[in-house]
Amino acid sequence: MEVGERLLEIYRQLLDAYGPQGWWPGETPFEVMVGAILAQNTSWRNVERALERLKTEGLLSPGALYTLPVEELTERLRPAGTYRVKAVRLRAFLDYLFRVHAGDPQRLAIGDLKTLRNELLAVPGIGPETADSILLYGAGQPTFVVDGYTARLLARLGLAQEKASYQALRALFMAHLPPDAAMFNEYHALIVRHGKERCRKRVPRCEGCPLLGGCAFAAAPCPGDPLAMRAGQRLCRASGDLSADGAQ
Ligand code: SF4
Repeated sequence: MEVGERLLEIYRQLLDAYGPQGWWPGETPFEVMVGAILAQNTSWRNVERALERLKTEGLLSPGALYTLPVEELTERLRPAGTYRVKAVRLRAFLDYLFRVHAGDPQRLAIGDLKTLRNELLAVPGIGPETADSILLYGAGQPTFVVDGYTARLLARLGLAQEKASYQALRALFMAHLPPDAAMFNEYHALIVRHGKERCRKRVPRCEGCPLLGGCAFAAAPCPGDPLAMRAGQRLCRASGDLSADGAQ
């Protein structure tokens, strides 16, 4: 099967299994963009607390946040974890938004994707995952967001190398799927759901997995190299044979 067809098949299988995920929670594009920056290295619950605090104080708009002294911004981001770093990053994003786009987040929705992405990547503290999250979930641009769940899933399905770069993984989706922001939005959300619920790092729950039939990891025999052993545990468990690789 051609790569694009396979990626579409995986998308449909995940959608059938989990349904629409309704990402990304946020009342405005700007709130989503701020959330994408605050989400670095913390739980979504902590991000929600920080966003709620900004909202309650009437600060969740580009103008209000931009005019807030950086010490006060830092204080208000406390719930988001690593708040000092995040305040600097958020301030850098706001500098960019006002310098290049007159403080209007909507302009990220109508500009050229490649240009906007390069602009965002030049903002200190904004890496590829945050830039793509801002553009996809905040601005509705057709760019694919990649993360650790994506890397693990594609490697296990045999579609990418285990240590493939962010750029290589993103390029796989971008090159083989139509540039459909709604699908990219849903696809990434489904991969995260699948990675949390089933395709977990240490002990994946392969039995009953909607992708089991096409999964190279799960199909590997029990004996063999360490990776194949782990895959084997799942199949051995499914077949009731726990002795083949010592799985408990
Ligand atoms: S079969 Fe197992 S390893 Fe493969 S995608 Fe499903 S949970 Fe992940």
